[in-house]
Amino acid sequence: MALQQLIDLRSDTVTRPTPAMREAMARAEVGDDVFGDDPTVNHLQDVVAARLGFEAGLFFPSGTQCNLAALLTHCGRGDEYLVGQEAHTYVHEGGGAAVLGGIQPQPLEHEPDGTLSLARLEAAIKPLDDHYARTRLLALENTFGGRVMPQPWVEAACALAKTRGLARHLDGARLFNAAVKQQRDARALVRCFESVSVCLSKGLGAPAGSVLVGEARFIREARRWRKVLGGTMRQVGVLAAAGLHALEHHVERLAEDHANATRLAEGLRGVAGLTVHAPDTNIVWVDVAAPLSGRIVAALAEHGVLATGGKRVRFVTHLDVDERAIARALEVVRAVATA
Ligand SMILES: *Cc1c(COP(=O)(O)O)cnc(C)c1O
Repeated sequence: MALQQLIDLRSDTVTRPTPAMREAMARAEVGDDVFGDDPTVNHLQDVVAARLGFEAGLFFPSGTQCNLAALLTHCGRGDEYLVGQEAHTYVHEGGGAAVLGGIQPQPLEHEPDGTLSLARLEAAIKPLDDHYARTRLLALENTFGGRVMPQPWVEAACALAKTRGLARHLDGARLFNAAVKQQRDARALVRCFESVSVCLSKGLGAPAGSVLVGEARFIREARRWRKVLGGTMRQVGVLAAAGLHALEHHVERLAEDHANATRLAEGLRGVAGLTVHAPDTNIVWVDVAAPLSGRIVAALAEHGVLATGGKRVRFVTHLDVDERAIARALEVVRAVATA
C-alpha cells in the first residue's frame, strides 16, 4: 500500500515535517554548537527554559538521552531513583541509568490512575545506612501513557520528595499534551521539579530533538554528561529551527489530536471484543479479547491502519491524521473486529 494511504496510529513520532517547518529549517542560522555558536540552538534552549520557568535549557538528539543525562546529573554511582514500574525511564530506555550510570532504579507499582501511592513512595526511601543505595531522586512522568497526572498528586509527591531531601525530575515527553488538555500554562505544571525534559519529536511534530531545563548550574553539568554520552552536535540549528517552529505552531493544535482520540474511542465503544479506555489526551488504549487479540494488528495493517500491541492495542493520534482519517480507521477497526 502506498505510504500516503496509510493511517499510521503507531505513535505520534511518525509525523513528517510540514512544508512550513522545512522552510524554517532551510532558513535557520547555524554555527558549531560545541562552541556554543549556533544561534538557533541557543534561542531554542532559551525559549523552552523561559516557557517552563527555568533558568537554562539544553538541546538533545533524543528524549532517552535527555532523561539519562538528567539522571546522571542528579545521581551518582550507588545512588538510586524512585520511579514508576511502567515509567519510560525505567522500562523503555534500555536501563540506561543502571547500565551507564551505576544508578539503581527503585520501581514502584502504579495505582489504577497511573499515580504512585505516597505511602509507598515514602516507605521506599532508604535510611542512610551502608546496606542501602542512597535514595537521591524522584522521577515522574506527565503525561503517563497518555494520561494527565492529577496536579495535586504531582505536587504532593514532589513536596514529599523535597522534605526527604530528594531531587525531582519530570519526564515531560508529552508535557504540552497535559498542559493543553488542562488549559494550563505548562509552567504551572512543572514548578515543583528541579529538571524537566520535553520532546519536540512527539506530538509537536519536529523530526528530532528534546530539551532539558533546569537551573544554570544543573544544565552546565548536564552539558558535560551530554558530551560523555556522545550527544553533542554541530550545526544543529536546522533541527532546533524545527523545534522552534513546532513550539510556535503545533502546541495549541494538540487539542485536535485529543479530540480525534476521543472520536476514535467513542466510535470503538460497543464493538464486540474491544474494551476501550477513555483517552485523556492523544493515546487510546483498547483491550482486545482472544482470538481477535492474536491477529488484530496484522489485520488492521492489511487495510492500511497501523497500530501497536495485541492484547492491549495502542492508537496514537497526531498532526498527520485528520478527522477523515479517523473516520476511515474506525470503519477498518469495526470491519476487522466483526470479521
Ligand atoms: C518518547 C518518550 C521519551 C523519549 O524517547 P526518544 O524516543 O528517545 O525521544 C521519553 N519519555 C516518554 C514518556 C516518551 O514517550
